[in-house]
Amino acid sequence: MKKINWVHIIISTILIITVFWSCSSNPYVHKIPKEQYVVMLSLDGCRWDYPQMADMHNLESIARSGVKLESLQPCFPSKTFPNHYSMATGLYPDHHGIVQNSFYDPEMDAYYKISDREAVENGEFYGGEPIWVTAEQQGLKTASFFWVGSEAPVQGVYPSRWKVYDHHFPYAARVDTVIAWLQLPKKERPRLITWYYPEPDGVGHEYSPESQEVIDKVEYLDSLVGDFLNKLSQLPIADQVNVIVTSDHGMARISGDKAIYFDDYLQTTWLDTSLGSNPVWMFDAAEGFEDSVYLNLKKAQHLQVWKKDSIPANLHYGNNSRVMDVVATPDINWSIGWRANELPADFLGGTHGYDPHYKDMHAIFYASGPAFKIGYVHPTVENVNIYPLIAKILDLKPAETDGKLENVQRMLKPKMLLND
Ligand code: AMP
Ligand code: ZN
Ligand code: ZN
Repeated sequence: MKKINWVHIIISTILIITVFWSCSSNPYVHKIPKEQYVVMLSLDGCRWDYPQMADMHNLESIARSGVKLESLQPCFPSKTFPNHYSMATGLYPDHHGIVQNSFYDPEMDAYYKISDREAVENGEFYGGEPIWVTAEQQGLKTASFFWVGSEAPVQGVYPSRWKVYDHHFPYAARVDTVIAWLQLPKKERPRLITWYYPEPDGVGHEYSPESQEVIDKVEYLDSLVGDFLNKLSQLPIADQVNVIVTSDHGMARISGDKAIYFDDYLQTTWLDTSLGSNPVWMFDAAEGFEDSVYLNLKKAQHLQVWKKDSIPANLHYGNNSRVMDVVATPDINWSIGWRANELPADFLGGTHGYDPHYKDMHAIFYASGPAFKIGYVHPTVENVNIYPLIAKILDLKPAETDGKLENVQRMLKPKMLLND
């Protein structure tokens, strides 16, 4: 009788198991498509921990099949325009120039305001290179549904498709438009799509971050993400698409009993201008009054005050000519303003703009698709690192940025990093 060759059987079994394992369960050996897509959604003001407070099971499914960040740290000031544009350009606000939601440019002698259409659409205000400009210049089509900066020609370039901001554009129809863009003929199909919802920022401001209204709103937004993922999964290019769901900043509770009024510390004759909104204000002092403004504001409890040239280095702020002489921001949960503009009753609900080192200012970041590892949780990083991440996925030569691929590359499958 033939003898059983045990050594042969054991080696064959190990080989079969190894081949089976590497083909079926090891994410790193899956073939990575050459032409990948990136579809990045921002849910304005979605704080890092909302998915733990509410049922956001569609976001959690992205985390299970991809990556989530512990949290995404915004730039200072943690406001909407500076941060969406930092995500787009990889630059701190000092370096891209959108230093606040509203600011004055002394060289242009012009004001920028988010409610001023002409300003928002004026490319001269926008420095740096948004990722869609990098992509378009390197031959890729891009599309944007309301991302900050996409409505202006930056370096003379728009996304191939973009829209004039409409706050009330129906939410479900945004999903269908993005899906329709992904179904365009290949020559026209955008490889990068950025899109946006202005919530849960609105309810966070009005009702405070820990409210039932925020929970209801983020659960609704999560259902839209679910609708999008479902429709995406039916497209022939589904396995080439990387989905990112992120946000610009978080939200902190405020209350009328934690208010600091500038009127109690300053005389208006010391000022040429003051500009801002709770909780970040800037002041241009009248000739010879810079010290009066600075030293008197310093007397206020719970208020951080800096001359523009001595803002802490980790805020990366103060070198741009659009930043005024003195910058003030309070401790978290505190409010600042002028009595003429704000009553204590206005300081109710929530706000953002504070020092981004406060965790309440941190945002969400979830991503899945062929470029991303599976089931990986990455530590907190700054949002300026999103630009180099997307540039890598789309195989683009990146512009110079403050963000660095090395800060985020652990999210990517090792195969994505070959050829470096
Ligand atoms: P804030 O909470 O003050 O930092 O700003 C949030 C607001 O920015 C949202 O409620 C939107 O109405 C507004 N917003 C966002 N994107 C745009 C845009 N592209 N054009 C005009 N306003 C915008
Ligand atoms: Zn915002
Ligand atoms: Zn807001």
